[in-house]
Amino acid sequence: MAPMVEAAPHEPIALRPGDVLLVVDVQHDFLPGGALGVVDGNRVIGPVNRAIERFAGRPVLLTRDWHPPGHCSFRAQGGPWPPHCVAGSRGAEFSDELRIPPGTGVVSKATQVDRDAYSAFAGTDLGLRLRALNAKRLFIAGLATDYCVVNTVVDAVAAGFEPVVLLDGIAAVDVQPGDGERAIERMRELGARFAVSTDLA
Ligand SMILES: [Zn+2]
Repeated sequence: MAPMVEAAPHEPIALRPGDVLLVVDVQHDFLPGGALGVVDGNRVIGPVNRAIERFAGRPVLLTRDWHPPGHCSFRAQGGPWPPHCVAGSRGAEFSDELRIPPGTGVVSKATQVDRDAYSAFAGTDLGLRLRALNAKRLFIAGLATDYCVVNTVVDAVAAGFEPVVLLDGIAAVDVQPGDGERAIERMRELGARFAVSTDLA
């Protein structure tokens, strides 16, 4: 189910210095047909592309799940997931439909065989890169709401950034029905703000 967009009318958001767009894991394996495809994951691509477009000339970072073969999150190793996003594989590539500007930064996560990471901050240099960019507001979209998006938002708040989650640019796995909605509620409780891609001015 699509996440509920707040009933309140949306105010346009004027982008300013300190804004960074973080696109989480829009990779083949998390899209329909992929090893761990989010059922309606494709619907995030249009909004993500719109956000990228609106961020023209401002910093955009893409994260990717980037596992070695035999990663601890795979079922054969006792993990919860089928093999997915093996570094260098087709499934680990970003969606072909994503309009990625040249020079866009990429953050690879969960690259160690014995460690999984849902948050894009976990075990990566994302925090350092954001500080180097003087980031303040962090606009976040991507997959999946109830795993990597929510955990990235939790760590973004802990690191002192102000997350703004683009509700039309996220989709949930919903292993348990309602996981996505609960993740949105958790982000709201943490103080994350919500917007849609068309709010970005
Ligand atoms: Zn993974």
